Amino acid sequence: MIISKFGYDFGRGRQDKAAHPFETSFSVNDVRITNRYEPSNPLATLFSGMHEAGHAMYEQGVNPAYERTPLANGVSSAVHESQSRMWENLVGRSLPFWEHFFPGLKKTFPTQLDGVSAKSFYKAINKVEPSFIRVNADEATYNLHIMLRLELEIGMLEGSLAIKDLPEIWNTKMQDYLGITPPDDAHGVLQDIHWSAGLFGYFPTYALGNLISAQLWEKINRDIRDLDEQIHKGKFDALLAWLRAKIHVHGHKFDPQDLVQNVAGSKIDASAYVRYLNKKYGDIYGL
Ligand SMILES: [Zn+2]
Repeated sequence: MIISKFGYDFGRGRQDKAAHPFETSFSVNDVRITNRYEPSNPLATLFSGMHEAGHAMYEQGVNPAYERTPLANGVSSAVHESQSRMWENLVGRSLPFWEHFFPGLKKTFPTQLDGVSAKSFYKAINKVEPSFIRVNADEATYNLHIMLRLELEIGMLEGSLAIKDLPEIWNTKMQDYLGITPPDDAHGVLQDIHWSAGLFGYFPTYALGNLISAQLWEKINRDIRDLDEQIHKGKFDALLAWLRAKIHVHGHKFDPQDLVQNVAGSKIDASAYVRYLNKKYGDIYGL
């Protein structure tokens, strides 16, 4: 199983079926994840599994000495998302990853993947296109979904927009940022659970996680020069060991900005993510 290869320790966790994928931690020795199975979209299950395993490996890597103290968990939602989205996107949606795993996938789905190469499969799973649903958005358009939500959150908190107008403002902003209008509110303002659960200000942690993951990725690639080669061989132990030593073990010991500064050399910043997107999609689309 791919998340075992990543380093998720099933001896200190388990994976169960649920309506929504999530990770929950009871102690450093009991970190559980869930996943859902969409028969029409099996890759969504795969990427959700990688994502939640990324959260879980963070929690499994915290220094056990911090157990039962406020230091015992990941430092913030944004740093947490940097871990989950790194395994899901920077690893799981990369070319070296699929050069390794695609032959196995093809063996399992010989008819569906007949005549498809690893390279064209890689391009297909990284197709950039405007879409309604945030969790299925590609890496290039994802942060626009967050920007829209953040602007609405600020409007709600400031009182400058009325709740009853949310569906209409949502649809207008979708048209402005992505050029599409949702067919109904299930594909629009009602698609997430966050606001109904009282989670305001949570969405930006996903965007910040993207930015941090790219900052860390640049540093990791300087420290592990043959990282692509290792991923190409299906080896992830050096990557996990790096994350363990630099991020996971510290738990909540440092503030998020200080942790990122100490490890990546600068505070949370968009430039590495922009470089990452330019390089990745420049190669894919020949720009
Ligand atoms: Zn997450």
